[in-house]
Amino acid sequence: MWWYPSCKCHKVVVLDFGAYYCNSCVKHIFQVTPRFKVKIEVSDGDSTSVFILFDSAMSYELSNGEIVCFLCCSI
Ligand SMILES: [Zn+2]
Repeated sequence: MWWYPSCKCHKVVVLDFGAYYCNSCVKHIFQVTPRFKVKIEVSDGDSTSVFILFDSAMSYELSNGEIVCFLCCSI
């Protein structure tokens, strides 16, 4: 999936009984913003790093299959 619905607080929202629910705001959201992400693979021969760029300044790095997540795993 190359886009996901997000709340105005930029957190990912989940579909819950026909409405979107934001775990960060702890309420249902009726207006979501689609956020796009672009995957870029960078290889230096030995290892490959995958950078996923979102449509904001945020970026996640996946290195050697290990996910380094600065947002969703920090709960
Ligand atoms: Zn929210």
